[in-house]
Order: sequence, then C-alpha cells, then structure tokens
Amino acid sequence: MASLAAKGISKVFEDGFQALTDIDLVVEPGEFVTLLGPSGCGKTTLLKTLAGFYDATTGRIEIGGTDVTAAPPEKRDTAMCFQSYALFPHLTVAENIDFGPRQAGVPKAERRARLESLLRQVDLEAHRDKLPNRLSGGQQQRVALARALAMRPAVVLFDEPLSNLDAKLREQVRREIRALQKEIGFTAIYVTHDQSEALAMSDRVVVMQGGRIDQVGRPEEIYARPETAFVADFIGAANLVPFEDLGGGRVKTPLGELRAAVPPAGNASFICWRPEDVELVEAGAASENVIRGVVRDRAYQGAHTELHVATGDADLGLQRLHVAGAAPAEGAEVAFRLGADQIRFVR
Ligand code: ADP
Ligand code: MG
Repeated sequence: MASLAAKGISKVFEDGFQALTDIDLVVEPGEFVTLLGPSGCGKTTLLKTLAGFYDATTGRIEIGGTDVTAAPPEKRDTAMCFQSYALFPHLTVAENIDFGPRQAGVPKAERRARLESLLRQVDLEAHRDKLPNRLSGGQQQRVALARALAMRPAVVLFDEPLSNLDAKLREQVRREIRALQKEIGFTAIYVTHDQSEALAMSDRVVVMQGGRIDQVGRPEEIYARPETAFVADFIGAANLVPFEDLGGGRVKTPLGELRAAVPPAGNASFICWRPEDVELVEAGAASENVIRGVVRDRAYQGAHTELHVATGDADLGLQRLHVAGAAPAEGAEVAFRLGADQIRFVR
C-alpha cells in the first residue's frame, strides 16, 4: 500500500487537445478512490498518466512519497485493470496470473505461493487449467484482477473494469473487488461513469468534468452537499433554480421567495434540492417555502412516484418531486414545502 499524489497535472495531446487541467489529488495508502464523470471527461487519460503510459505535460506524480513523474510504467509499482480483460487467450488461468512474476524473475517458490493464494482469493481454483474463452465474463474479470495483483502493486488502477458485465454480476464483482482490496491491502483508483457504483464502492469520489476536478469528497458529502450544478445533477437527480440573494438567508427565485437555513456562498448561482426533499402539503397551506404547481406527468417507480410539476414560471422547466405512497394524478394542482435546510447553493 502506498499513497499517491498528483500535483498540478495537465495533459495536452499531440494534436493540441488539452484533456487534463490542473489536477490535484492525494490518495491515502489503502484508500479506495473513484474517478467519476461522463464519457470524455478525461478519466482514462488521468489513469494512464498516473500509470506512466502517458507523460504529463505539466505537474508531478508521487507514489509512496517518491517522484515517479519521469518513471516508466514498470517502475511505478502500479498495475492496471481494464474493461477489456486483455487476457492471453493461449495461456491457462494459472499461466495468465503467473505471467508477470515469471517475466520479472520472481523465484519459483514465491511465484507458486502467490498463485495459490490469488486463485483462492478470486475463487478460481477449480478453473486454474482452463483457457480464458472457457470462462464466463465475471470469471475472466477475476483472472484479470488476479493477474494485476500478482505483481503485488502498491496502487491498482481500474478502468471501468465491470462495464462488460450485466447489472447483477456487476454488483457481485464490485463487492468482491472491495473485499479483496481489504484482504490484500492496496491503494485503489477506480474509474467509472456509473454514479451508483462510485457511491457504493468508494471511500472518496472525485467528480470530473471537462478535464478538471469539480469536487472531491466522501460519497455522502458529494450527494448531500454538492458544490456545483454539474455535481448535483450528475450524482442523483437535482432541481436547479436561479436565485437572487435578498440577505438574511432569504432568496428570490422563479418559484417565489424562499428562506434557506444557510446563506448562499458568494459564487453560487443556483439553489438546488433533491426530488425526495419535498413534502406535499394542503392546497391552502400558507406557510413558509410552500410552492404551488400542476402535475404534468408522473412515473410510478415502486418505492416512490416521480412527479413532474409545472410551477408559475413557464421558463423554469418542470420540477421533479418524489412522493412516497399515494401520488396525485396528472393535471392535479399540488402544493409542496421545501424545508429551509434542504436548500443548498451550488455554483
Ligand atoms: P474518459 O475516459 O473520461 O471517457 P478519455 O480520457 O478517454 O475520457 O478522453 C478525454 C478526452 O481526450 C476526450 O475528448 C478524448 O477524445 C481525448 N483524447 C483521448 N485520447 C486522445 C489522444 N490520444 N489524442 C487526442 N485526444 C485524445
Ligand atoms: Mg475511459
């Protein structure tokens, strides 16, 4: 296990495209950090730069406190685990896992010990002599993982390793990866574009957009206290409404005047709340932070019903509300209260 630090990393490709800008990130030894963001935001580029497959245009990378900015991949004590498993098709499961240590000249007894413990840890002892094409997708992914771990890397870099698996298997393998990480002990940087995967697996989530880091935090922090409109909307669902600061925690919005428990930060441009943060109230209710509207459509989701509600301001777009239990019909007039402490401010 080792720490990893990226300091002021930028990456400009040969064609002049700047894929990374000012990336600052410190990952603690044994931490599991995910890079989360939409396709094209620079996740793979950052991972490959950390691994040494790309040179950083500017900045510095340290692993375990050692400057590795100029070191080739094999000198960085990292291993990469990809979505395409990249297994050698003509080698058995055991030979695939043993490949790295054998190339590196690890003594035979040590190689055997590593192989046996990895086969056990990824639950592939019964399949050790099979070729990869005889295995299921989940099993192939486990071989790829064991192969990455066979070199005992301090840092394992995962690039969307589960995206070829179906939803059910994905959940199972992600639990296995976390369990293995705790058992073996390595620092993990895990790329995904799947927000629920990031929230479920991570000690901390790094949300990226357009080659930059938008926000870093524990999953609960990222969800409960998004700092930008992008993060609010990308992690879960969010209603975003522009506002004018009236002072004293009061804001003027297209939904009416509202009171917020905390005053807006100077650089905020929107108020934000989650669909589940509201409560339906009596139509005549005349209390603070009550908003009126008409249900335009509704979608039953099992645990709740999602309502799309038009409020007085036609330009604003529909507000999303989640209602547990009996939900009002399309066309119904509704009133809902937005708690003062549910109102967040984002930039
Ligand atoms: P992600 O993994 O988040 O989907 P990537 O890191 O693969 O994103 O790519 C980030 C951006 O950099 C994209 O716009 C992509 O087109 C661009 N890009 C990736 N590789 C290269 C390259 N070798 N040369 C030029 N542009 C590239
Ligand atoms: Mg990618």
